[in-house]
Amino acid sequence: MHVAQKLDILAAEARYDLACACGPSQPRVRGPLGRWIYPAVLPGGKRANLLKVLLSNACTRDCAYCAQRRGRGFPRAGFIPEELAAAFVEMHRRGQVTGLFLSSAISGTVDEAMARMIKTVEIVRFRHGYRGWVHLKILPGASREQVGRAAELANRLSLNLEAPSPSRLAALSPQKSFHSHIYERMAWIQNLVDSRAGRCRGQTTQFVVGAGEETDGEFIRLMGDLYGRLGLSRIYFSAFQPVRATPLEGRPPAPFEREHRLYQADFLLRKYGFSANELVLDENGNLPPGVDPKSAWASRHPEFFPVEVNTATREELLRVPGIGPVSAGRILRRRRDGRIKSLDDLKRAGAAARRAESYVLLGGRRPVPARKVQLSLWAADCVAPGSF
Ligand code: SF4
Repeated sequence: MHVAQKLDILAAEARYDLACACGPSQPRVRGPLGRWIYPAVLPGGKRANLLKVLLSNACTRDCAYCAQRRGRGFPRAGFIPEELAAAFVEMHRRGQVTGLFLSSAISGTVDEAMARMIKTVEIVRFRHGYRGWVHLKILPGASREQVGRAAELANRLSLNLEAPSPSRLAALSPQKSFHSHIYERMAWIQNLVDSRAGRCRGQTTQFVVGAGEETDGEFIRLMGDLYGRLGLSRIYFSAFQPVRATPLEGRPPAPFEREHRLYQADFLLRKYGFSANELVLDENGNLPPGVDPKSAWASRHPEFFPVEVNTATREELLRVPGIGPVSAGRILRRRRDGRIKSLDDLKRAGAAARRAESYVLLGGRRPVPARKVQLSLWAADCVAPGSF
């Protein structure tokens, strides 16, 4: 099979692994040659177009949700490391991509598949002299030596947990051990990240949402642990979509709204100072539908409001629906030059003033006649990270 055909198959197959920094709402874009190229925001805010590709889609495992599972009938392909390295470097030389996101199915043993992935990056780095961004997936069960080598070569590593507990994972991926194949490796990676010995400066993970019976609360408790104890850089969520000819093909797709709410909860944990046990869950253990998690918290805590914008701490401002990390910072800076007197002042600071008005005081006065605090209805402007 020609390299271009392999690239078409294996870059398209990478769509099933959504753990890229482009977020859930941004579409994958077709690059100039029809390849699958993903917009991403790198740490530090730089934008990149990543070639996201599998080294192989021929898997020896049979995870219930996965398109690449063994025995499923569809075109299989695999690169040898030299082929993919040369194809990527050529695309980079032409300016079609600015980074590489390399993953793979487990073709053969974990050891063999991981060795081929590492070799690909070694060739890219040392034979072709590429110094740019590489995100390398670590396969569950990879050896300590391979994890160490990957951390020397790649800027970012990721290992997908897929499910929020050992029993949930066992139901989906019977050959993967939650603790010994994944969580333990994540701790190794984090030690390497913290040591700053290699190139790797962060790790991420990803969950499939809705492939099992798990609740949002299970994800959220684990997220608190992953950010708090393990120090992960990001957690990604992928709403389950049934794939033909898999055991879960008859299962309904998970709503993207659920994926979106988990991302909102994720922002509250990472950027707003919330802890996992503060997030409001409904009687089923899920984030309440139709309301963003921050407004749900506010409706449960009327004693916290109204917040006086002119004297509140950053932490207090971040609890106000409509004020995010950026607008809280601007409010604090503007206060040095004078008081915040009106909703227009709040707007100029970048806050969603209409959302915030029920929750704040401006100079000891409510900006509008006091209204009953209501749960915000789901609205498109909740989508932007930092605006809720
Ligand atoms: S190991 Fe990975 S590629 Fe293989 S079936 Fe499981 S999820 Fe799919």
